[in-house]
Amino acid sequence: MNKFFFWLGAFALAWIIWKISQRFQNVRRTPRSEKSGADKPVAMIRCPVCGSHFPEDEAVMSGQKKYCSERCRTQARKSRSR
Ligand SMILES: [Zn+2]
Repeated sequence: MNKFFFWLGAFALAWIIWKISQRFQNVRRTPRSEKSGADKPVAMIRCPVCGSHFPEDEAVMSGQKKYCSERCRTQARKSRSR
């Protein structure tokens, strides 16, 4: 019977250690996720000229419209003046 209690205690101890280690891992993970959350997910928008998708923070503005590059913006101006 003593062996039974020994194994019960051993399993309980192992379970407690496992739970504590999990909690520590969660604590370590939290600042990482906050760091990655600081980098805001940039919205992908479609260039009206070439049709390619690009991140919004790299957009070249022309009035209300956003283009993927300077080349597309000038091309849009050219096509408008035609
Ligand atoms: Zn473009």
